[in-house]
Amino acid sequence: MNVGLNEISKILQENNNFYILTHKSPDGDTLGSAFALCFALQKINKNAKVLCNDEIPNKYNFLCENIIQQNFEPEYVISIDISDTQLLGENLDRFVDKIDLCIDHHQSNSHFSKYWYIEKNSASTAEIIYKIIENLNVKIDRNIANCIYTGISTDTGCFRQSNTTARSYRIAAILIDSGADAFKINKIMFDTKTKAKFAIEKIVIENIEFFFNNICAIISINYEDIVKIGVCESDFDGISSIPKQIEGVLISAFIREQKPGIFKISMRTDESIDASEICAKLNGGGHRCAAGCTINGDFFAVKNKLLTTIGSYIDNNKKYERNNPYK
Ligand code: 5GP
Ligand code: MN
Repeated sequence: MNVGLNEISKILQENNNFYILTHKSPDGDTLGSAFALCFALQKINKNAKVLCNDEIPNKYNFLCENIIQQNFEPEYVISIDISDTQLLGENLDRFVDKIDLCIDHHQSNSHFSKYWYIEKNSASTAEIIYKIIENLNVKIDRNIANCIYTGISTDTGCFRQSNTTARSYRIAAILIDSGADAFKINKIMFDTKTKAKFAIEKIVIENIEFFFNNICAIISINYEDIVKIGVCESDFDGISSIPKQIEGVLISAFIREQKPGIFKISMRTDESIDASEICAKLNGGGHRCAAGCTINGDFFAVKNKLLTTIGSYIDNNKKYERNNPYK
C-alpha cells in the first residue's frame, strides 16, 4: 500500500528495532540513504542497523564510522533503493516476504513490500530520505548530511546526468550548510581509483571497437584478466560509460566475462536511444540510458548477438545510419 511522508513519520515513531536493507553490489545511493536513515532513527532513540548482502566497499567506510553498532532482533524491516527482491542477494533472502516498508525511486519497482513510498522522478533515493528525515523533525547533522550527499552525488554522476534536478542541487546546498564535506566526498567518489580499476581501464581502452558508423562502441574484459588483476565489484563502477566519452558515440556496451562463458553486458546510451528496449530483447532490462543483460556462450558469439540486436534497433529507428558488419 502506498504511504505518504506523514504516515512514514508515524511508522518510524511508533515502531522500534529497525533493520534497514540495502541492495546487493551496493552503491552510494543505497548505502548513503540507508545509513542516513539509521543515524536519524538512532537520534530518536530507536534501535536501527543497516544490512547488506555484500561487504561494504572500502570507499564507503566513512559513511558508517559513527554508527552505533546495536544487536537486536528485527521488528520492522525497511528496504532502501531496492526495486525488486532479486536485488537483496542470497544473504538477505530471508527477508523476501518480510519487508514492511520500501523506499525507492526506480520506475520498475515491483511493489513487494507491505507499504511503499516510491518517487520515480527523484534522481536518488537519498533525496527521498532527506524529505523523510526533515518531516520527522530530526536535525540534519554532519553524519546524516555526508550520507545523503553521497547518495545524491553518486546517483547523479556528480550532478552531471540528465536525472539531476534543481531539487538535487537545492538539497545538496542545504547538506553543505549542515556540514557535508562535499569536496572530500567528490574526491573519493569521482577522483580516486584503485589500481585494479586502472588496470581494467587500460585493458578495455586497448580493446575498444566501433560499429555502425562509430555511433556504437564496445569494450570488454575476459575472466582470465579479471582473475589476474584481482578485482572487486566496485572496481567496475563507471567502466561501462567510458566509450560514451568519445565524441559521436551514442551506444556504449561493456562485455564482462563474469564466469567462464557467462557474459554480463552493461549498456549506456544517449537519451535518443532506449537501452532498456535493446537489453529487453536479450532478456535483460533497466532504464532508458542505463540497462543490462547476461548472455552465455563464447565471446565472439556473444558479441555477435549483441551487435545484431543493436543493429535491429538502429534499423527500426531509422534516424541512424548504420554500417552493420553482420547484415
Ligand atoms: P548495470 O549495467 O550498472 O549493471 O545496470 C544498469 C541498469 O540495468 C540497472 O538499473 C540494473 O538494474 C539494470 N540491469 C542490469 N542488468 C540487468 C538484467 O540482467 N536484467 C534486468 N532486468 N535489469 C538489468
Ligand atoms: Mn538509486
